[in-house]
Amino acid sequence: MLNYSWKQVNVMKAIQNYLKKNETGNLKRNYMDAYQNESFHHLVDTLNIEENLLMKYTSQLEEAAVEKENCKHCRNLVTCKNKMKGYCYTPRKEKQRIIFSYEMCSRKEKQEALLAYQKNIHYFRIPKQIAMASFQDFYKDSKGRVPILKYFQSFMEEYLKTKKGKGLYLCGSFGSGKTYMLAALFNELAKKGVESCMVYYPELLRLLKSSFGSSYEEKFTMVKKAPLLLLDDIGAENVTPWSRDEVLGPILQYRMEEELPTFFTSNFTLEELEKLLGETKNSIEMVKARRIIERIKQLSESMVLNSKNRREG
Ligand code: ADP
Ligand code: MG
Repeated sequence: MLNYSWKQVNVMKAIQNYLKKNETGNLKRNYMDAYQNESFHHLVDTLNIEENLLMKYTSQLEEAAVEKENCKHCRNLVTCKNKMKGYCYTPRKEKQRIIFSYEMCSRKEKQEALLAYQKNIHYFRIPKQIAMASFQDFYKDSKGRVPILKYFQSFMEEYLKTKKGKGLYLCGSFGSGKTYMLAALFNELAKKGVESCMVYYPELLRLLKSSFGSSYEEKFTMVKKAPLLLLDDIGAENVTPWSRDEVLGPILQYRMEEELPTFFTSNFTLEELEKLLGETKNSIEMVKARRIIERIKQLSESMVLNSKNRREG
């Protein structure tokens, strides 16, 4: 162990004190500089924390002040300037420290509450805009929608009472709003706690094709057993004996047996779909295609929606 004389000890203490003072002086100077900024001093004045503690966190407080100022001038979530959209970097005192955390803003909270229903729906490659579909911002132009909306109303009433009901096979021209309409129905039911699954069917097939073992089973089972299912754009896939006999057939069979409501959209009528599913057109294939169409007919009512193409671009 080293032995110091009392003189040496005193010199060391004096140096330590000097350094500490100097450091405190720097902290204080930085803090006072930052305090010149209006939003900074507004923030620290509202915190009710002693200056000696505040000055240890100057740069973080500056960041928090900038974010708070951004919030003051906020117009909407899309143009939020904060580091994490919809959150504000916020200080609070805890014992002898200041803790900073990202707090959700009121706009974001409102949005989250509004979208809470989406937790009830599993989406497989359904565009975000469609996932937000609602009856509120619905086109009311085309007469073709009236019978479909009437059907929706009676389906909702029956399903909410009995957990049963016949689905819909909605066919019609490209971009007429078939997917949108069914998404609006699923969303409405999700707001009432009904769980469902919306699947872009050609993509489901691609996904299943590249999955193996338990991953395949998991996806397949989720679709097969969903309380409500939408198979979107059926007929747009590359029909193969596998997709028809190992995927579509068993899904429909299970849902018929369990009486699970099933919905479809397609650019093809059922007659056209039958031809497509017949693939090689030999008699065995045609029988298999017929069987699928019969299952679809058992599971759903058929309606048509033709309207101008609503897609942009
Ligand atoms: P389809 O499935 O018949 O091909 P979509 O449902 O994808 O057509 O609709 C095409 C576009 O029009 C989408 O971008 C969708 O957001 C919009 N759209 C369709 N129907 C409505 C509606 N009733 N209200 C508002 N937007 C709609
Ligand atoms: Mg569609």
